[in-house]
Amino acid sequence: MLNEKLTVVFNEVIARNPGEAEFHQAAQEVIECLGPVLTRHPEIGRHKIINRICEPERQIIFRIPWVDDNNEVQINRGFRVEFNSALGPYKGGLRFHPSVYLGIIKFLGFEQIFKNALTGLPIGGGKGGSDFNPKGKSDGEIMRFCQSFMTELYRHIGEHTDVPAGDIGVGGREIGFLFGQYKRITNRYESGVLTGKGLDWGGSLVRTEATGYGSVYFVDEMLKVRGSSFEGKTAVVSGSGNVAIYTSEKIHELGGKVVACSDSNGYIHDRDGIDIELVKQIKEVQRGRISEYVQERKSAKYIEGGNIWEIPCEIAMPSATENEISGKDAKTLVGNGCIAVGEGANMPSTPEAVKVFLGTEIAYGPGKAANAGGVATSALEMQQNASRDSWTFEYTDRRLRAIMKNIHESCYETAEEYGSPGNYVVGANISGFLKVANSMLSMGVI
Ligand code: NDP
Repeated sequence: MLNEKLTVVFNEVIARNPGEAEFHQAAQEVIECLGPVLTRHPEIGRHKIINRICEPERQIIFRIPWVDDNNEVQINRGFRVEFNSALGPYKGGLRFHPSVYLGIIKFLGFEQIFKNALTGLPIGGGKGGSDFNPKGKSDGEIMRFCQSFMTELYRHIGEHTDVPAGDIGVGGREIGFLFGQYKRITNRYESGVLTGKGLDWGGSLVRTEATGYGSVYFVDEMLKVRGSSFEGKTAVVSGSGNVAIYTSEKIHELGGKVVACSDSNGYIHDRDGIDIELVKQIKEVQRGRISEYVQERKSAKYIEGGNIWEIPCEIAMPSATENEISGKDAKTLVGNGCIAVGEGANMPSTPEAVKVFLGTEIAYGPGKAANAGGVATSALEMQQNASRDSWTFEYTDRRLRAIMKNIHESCYETAEEYGSPGNYVVGANISGFLKVANSMLSMGVI
């Protein structure tokens, strides 16, 4: 619930950012948690820290012209929202998806501020992307698009300024094309300007796996608090991209069984447990659709257009996109005996779904805490670049695991301290917010 002061702040956010529903949703979730913070720290209200945090430091919108394989000129729109640099250079991924508009980038950038703060690493929050649809495009088209995108973006980024990475539609291939163009235009081999790079040219081991593995480590910590674990549990993981694949891989390693995953056309259900290597082959090597899975695995079923949350599971890990779990889906999960939800995706649960989860005994790990392992490992990549070093897989994975444990502890303890025990939404929002707010207070009115 919003108190009177916070209602004024939130109404101002809506009025200043019309038509940006996803940004309003993300802002409301954070602002709603801050009542007790303002009571304890009136200086935060006096210095208008919440109002300032809700206003991006800089927003860049640009034209991306490129030529497709038919020699036709195409025009897309590019975005970079540099939201908050109180803790370090702006850091956050690039999303290439036709649904991208300013409101999506702002919701993601806003979430990123608090997520990055939770990692305890020196990174501010930002996000970017384009309404470009990479589906069905040739490698040449992807390259030309990425080059045109970087031809504008390069002047706004830098290892001490703003460090983009991947998100939906942007993986290792795209980061390679973007880095190549940055290097060419600037005549600088500035490894720390992008993360998610290839292992031969400045990338970090574990970055590919980090968001998925990290989300599972976070859920594992939530389960431990309840005297439970992944061992023998059935899980459903939506999506079949980077986050979903490595979430599923780690769940299997910890003794759980993932029985379903999806893409935007439908889902596959495999009672024997999803064959991760086959999913990797289809999605990472062939760049195919998840429906192709059933051609190889006769035990599995493909349900076109189905709702993956109807499959009974003990652990649900939404890892596709925002608002993919409705209030009704949340009730179905609860009714089917789900005990934990860990968000690999950003804001995958609607406000109605979050309400359902928080009203039950379910361990609910919100995205800004649960999926922070990706950006944390990006920051570890920056550390390796700065020291011209490269760490082993085992060492980097240990660091990731320790970071996720710390994030869990900090959310858990902050929730208790502020009178909402077990509520990781309150814990994550207050803990992340306080780090940023205190830094902003120290730096004066900027
Ligand atoms: P990918 O592009 O690798 O994969 C996205 C997956 O989600 C695809 O399987 C895609 O299917 C599916 N998907 C996308 N939109 C929908 C939809 N409307 N309905 C059903 N499925 C959909 O992206 P990532 O795995 O990197 O990202 C997934 C989520 O995780 C996003 O919310 C992202 O912001 C978040 N995230 C990612 C991080 C990272 O390190 N990559 C870090 C932190 C969060 P299709 O191919 O049909 O579109």
